[in-house]
Amino acid sequence: MNIPMVDLQSQYQRLKPEIDAEIQKVLDTSSYINGPVVHEFSKNLAEYLGVKHVIPCANGTDALQVAMMGLGLKPGDEVITTSFTFIATAEVIALLGLTPVLVDVYADTMNIDTDAIRKAITPNTKAIVPVHLFGQSSDMEEIMAIAKEHNLFVIEDNCQALGSCFTFKNGDKKKAGTIGHVGCTSFFPSKNLGTYGDGGAIFTNDDELAEQYKVVVNHGMKVRYYHDYIGVNSRLDSMQAAILKVKLPHLDSFAKARNAAAGYYNNAFAKCEKLITPATAPFSDHVFHQYTLRLVGVDRDALQKHLTEKGIANAVYYPVPLHMQKAYQDPRYKTGDFPVTEMLSEQVLSLPMHTEFTEEQLKYVCDAVLEFVSK
Ligand SMILES: *Cc1c(COP(=O)(O)O)cnc(C)c1O
Repeated sequence: MNIPMVDLQSQYQRLKPEIDAEIQKVLDTSSYINGPVVHEFSKNLAEYLGVKHVIPCANGTDALQVAMMGLGLKPGDEVITTSFTFIATAEVIALLGLTPVLVDVYADTMNIDTDAIRKAITPNTKAIVPVHLFGQSSDMEEIMAIAKEHNLFVIEDNCQALGSCFTFKNGDKKKAGTIGHVGCTSFFPSKNLGTYGDGGAIFTNDDELAEQYKVVVNHGMKVRYYHDYIGVNSRLDSMQAAILKVKLPHLDSFAKARNAAAGYYNNAFAKCEKLITPATAPFSDHVFHQYTLRLVGVDRDALQKHLTEKGIANAVYYPVPLHMQKAYQDPRYKTGDFPVTEMLSEQVLSLPMHTEFTEEQLKYVCDAVLEFVSK
């Protein structure tokens, strides 16, 4: 058997008639940039998320960068984020000349530690960027309370948790990415709502911010060829929007399929003490962008080799914490400063996770893992 991390081909075959028809429509109109389908998809996504504004852009990294540019953050402003994330989060902070302030994560959910956020706040802190890692929301109720207390912006990196729902203590529910001042997502092909190229979006309920973001993504231009700000060129093209428009109504069923696969894995690994299955926080549901195990007393390299030999894809997200990355060396931080992140980077292993599994494939993966760890 050959089991990829993400089975984009089977999903495409299942949705092919709809997707092909929408792509053909774009070809027939030749409206490749800012075509009507871009607006239509953005409107549909705003409706799905229950958010006032969706501003499409070229990718998730741009979404984060534009989110920060539109907030008027200035060089030297401190932005608190997690030490256990994909590099894009910290990259845009650094590129804009802002100062990334890293904090550790919780061992169980692997999301940002809210007590650590409180301790990291200084008079220069301007924003918090929680990352909803692997498909579940960070503790947004607590993070918004901290932000209110200290007058900070909250930018949700929701690239991995689109469609996930957060439940407040009073029972209210909101979609991840719509709780902070601004939310960001990515439509990279392997993301939960993935297109066949690059794409991203910014969400906000703030009318003024939304206007600002539309200007920033369009070269800082409100009136054509009059540039009031230094902006960027960041667009979702019509082809990608057409694909996303077809896939969006399936997003909840995608999450269901991912949860079914995660449930199968959880069951299979429940009795094995060397495998810690993913924990879900009580305030969030999980859309399993990744299914990530923690290995205890298992030789990870050898397990990876064993799985690869059996045709089972696997990956370590993420092997090097931000503060230990070569490009991000900083005298403020040293190895040992973020013990949970450092432990996780040594323990984690992600298994194939997508929407198209057969039970036979899941059994094959579980058997291969258990065969190795029970040796
Ligand atoms: C994928 C991802 C991004 C970047 O998205 P791109 O579309 O690849 O630019 C940013 N943050 C996180 C957490 C991601 O998973």
